[in-house]
Amino acid sequence: MSKSFLDQFADRLIAWHQRDGRHGLPWQGHRDPYAVWVSEIMLQQTQVATVLERYPRFMKRFPTVKKLAAVNIDEVLAEWAGLGYYSRARNLHACAKQVVEEFDGHFPKDPLLLEKLKGIGRSTAGAIAAFAFEEHAPILDANVKRILARLFAIDKALQEKAVTDELWALAKRLLPKSAKSMPTYTQALMDFGATWCTARKPVCISGQQRCPFEKNCQANLNDQVLLLPKKISKAKSPEFICNMVLLRHGDFVLLQKRPPKAIWGGLWSLPESEWIARQPVNLKLSHSPSKTSSLNLLTTVLTGENVKDLFKQCSPLLHKEEIRHVFTHRRLWMQIWESHSQERYCFVDPTLQWIDLRKLGQYGLPQPIKLLLQGLSLARDVGTKS
Ligand code: SF4
Repeated sequence: MSKSFLDQFADRLIAWHQRDGRHGLPWQGHRDPYAVWVSEIMLQQTQVATVLERYPRFMKRFPTVKKLAAVNIDEVLAEWAGLGYYSRARNLHACAKQVVEEFDGHFPKDPLLLEKLKGIGRSTAGAIAAFAFEEHAPILDANVKRILARLFAIDKALQEKAVTDELWALAKRLLPKSAKSMPTYTQALMDFGATWCTARKPVCISGQQRCPFEKNCQANLNDQVLLLPKKISKAKSPEFICNMVLLRHGDFVLLQKRPPKAIWGGLWSLPESEWIARQPVNLKLSHSPSKTSSLNLLTTVLTGENVKDLFKQCSPLLHKEEIRHVFTHRRLWMQIWESHSQERYCFVDPTLQWIDLRKLGQYGLPQPIKLLLQGLSLARDVGTKS
């Protein structure tokens, strides 16, 4: 690639952004590192349309890093409910505390220091430093990797360390000379990958627009656009099955706080059995199991409790429904078993708690469990009115 192309790339991209970039999104134009950071984390695995709705809500509830650091993690998880990838919410909270405790509530402007904060990787550190402090820091998210792989016809697997190093070096080489241009340039790069040089329908293939780099882009010149970046074949996601017990007492339902490092870590969910590989043999189930099977099922879900005592107070377990949930790398079939307890039984395990259905909004719940419980809550309201 010619030196003049490398030197002019930033100016050409900024000129493209003025004409065809995205403008007026609520998280754009901020110089407040807190606002930049929240938007960057939320946009990582969530569609722009969803972030448009949820970002202003989050910022209204937690307007500063000090406010976010001061609340209980449950509040953050409840606000994050439905956005998925809950480790992001846990990291946001932990990082806010770090900023308050170690940096007196002010984000550092050095990308190397930003990278040391919980949940902030090198690319996010670069984005915060560029947007908030006009630092000469490159970004290298999936969109930028794709643009670079195509512009420079890099046909090796992008996960290889040597290739990643090469991409970072290129991302740095292309930065604008003027520090003042860093926010616009960084936004332009993000927008170009998200809207023009997209994975499946880049404009040079769809023919809808003329790409400003089409005469330099090595992938375009060599007819390799859809072949780059090189795809790695994915293994089929493993499938699991588990039992969950929906134990109710009037308006209360038994929930369990999940361990922080598990899937849906820190959220409140139905008590569940261990996940096992889904096999044809464990697909056959009786919708109203015998007393012995019910007791066994309850024992595998409420481990460590005196289940026999509890069992005496419960109505027979009935299969309520099967819920399938797709995670990024696995699928889970949840068998929901319902029973009513005569009283709010006291459990030894403090993570097990009876939660009032009318106060569900105060708890962070996994989306499928939230929908299930909201259904119960709705039925309760209808029942009360009729
Ligand atoms: S020519 Fe196509 S592949 Fe190359 S940068 Fe432009 S949109 Fe992307």
